[in-house]
Amino acid sequence: MTTSTIINPATEEVLDTVKQTDEAGVDDAVARASAAQRAWARLAPAERAAALRSFAEVVDTHIDELAELEVANSGHPIGNAAWEAGHVRDVLHYYAASPERLSGKQIPVAGGLDVTFHEPLGVVGVITPWNFPMTIASWGFAPALAAGNAVLVKPAEWTPLTTIRLGELAVEAGLPADLFCVLPGKGSVVGERFVTHPDVRKIVFTGSTEVGTRVMAGAAAQVKRVTLELGGKSANIVFDDCDLEKAAATAPYGVFDNAGQDCCARSRILVQRNVYDRFMELLEPAVKGVVVGDPRAEGTEMGPLVSRTHFDTVASYVPDDAAVAFRGHAPSGPGYWFAPTVLTPQRTDRTVREEIFGPVVTVLAFDDEADAIALANDTAYGLSGSIWTDNLSRAVRVSRAVEAGNLSVNSHSSVRYHTPFGGFKQSGLGRELGPDAPLSFTETKNVFFAVEES
Ligand code: NAD
Repeated sequence: MTTSTIINPATEEVLDTVKQTDEAGVDDAVARASAAQRAWARLAPAERAAALRSFAEVVDTHIDELAELEVANSGHPIGNAAWEAGHVRDVLHYYAASPERLSGKQIPVAGGLDVTFHEPLGVVGVITPWNFPMTIASWGFAPALAAGNAVLVKPAEWTPLTTIRLGELAVEAGLPADLFCVLPGKGSVVGERFVTHPDVRKIVFTGSTEVGTRVMAGAAAQVKRVTLELGGKSANIVFDDCDLEKAAATAPYGVFDNAGQDCCARSRILVQRNVYDRFMELLEPAVKGVVVGDPRAEGTEMGPLVSRTHFDTVASYVPDDAAVAFRGHAPSGPGYWFAPTVLTPQRTDRTVREEIFGPVVTVLAFDDEADAIALANDTAYGLSGSIWTDNLSRAVRVSRAVEAGNLSVNSHSSVRYHTPFGGFKQSGLGRELGPDAPLSFTETKNVFFAVEES
């Protein structure tokens, strides 16, 4: 069996080695998961709910351990990593309420009784990216399990450790061992087998638009269900009538969170031309104030990039002649450190069009509301964005006009487990989270019962 080496991105030290699942291993897990799913779906709804609550409680007692593991594997600052582990617990608790609420409908018909059922799909394959390993896995597995499915998770090659640990904690909590299984390995092996295996009935894929497109094309061969959460190049639109101090003070955190390795990063700041110079004056100290350093230290706001390979990709967007306005700080020495960087390029530059997925933000000026909307929508992506204005009508108009799935007005919030999340255009297909997520792991079955007249 082959293994992969896991590196701590803050120190470049070897952290662990992880066994890679091969195709036969996937087939074996699918067969066992199929059997476990049938038993799981037969349980009373309250029993499935109780099992998910136990899983949440076991996660809760391991928050510190999970957070420390994420710090070491992914370089997330400890405060963020603890939040992420707590989020997994909350997502499990939230969807633990679903098995007892998956009601169908009774529809008035002539000659009998018509009811709908939400039947589980069977085995669901969840493929996750390396940037938020725990949280993104939970957005797939928690509602899928709640709806009566078995789940196989393939974590990303660079950051599998917390997901593997969640798989162990599920068993510790009493979930059947084969019902929820984590299969580390290559995308081209494990991920592709999820797509081609006829008994994997749905793929939840989170990752790049490039790979997501291939997953969707492969799934089409079996009319396999897919949810896709893909890339983003989100706009942070700053109008002249907003609280400019607050917009500038918060802008770095809207893009540099998780070192910019965030699909929702507001990586294009669009500023109304008449306040552009003042905004840049305010932005500079805010960027320089981002605390970049040892992710184990409380108070660190930004850690390293995830790997050497990814560092080289991000660095390629900031060549020596790049239009750098100013940069923040980053440690030197071992680790994949990249200082927060603010660029002021032309509208057509690749840094404005492509997802950099690192701590690099572009700032562009716009003339009026129509120009701001056109610029914000001038992208193949449509995941999230922010709108800064104190004019209520403008806030409503612009938030309706921007083609993106998750917008925030006068803040940068995008993800709450109880509200829907997903992208327009090439940022994805389908929605995760929110009250309806379990339904996307079911088929609606309509049954008509003929009733004889007495
Ligand atoms: P990636 O597409 O390279 O990989 C994602 C996952 O797919 C990994 O587990 C990988 O092993 C697997 N994979 C690779 N090839 C595959 C194949 N042929 N078949 C099936 N699976 C395969 O993405 P990444 O670099 O890990 O993550 C970064 C990307 O993820 C960014 O584009 C980011 O925007 C996106 N992302 C989106 C969201 C969202 O919710 N919309 C959230 C986080 C990240």
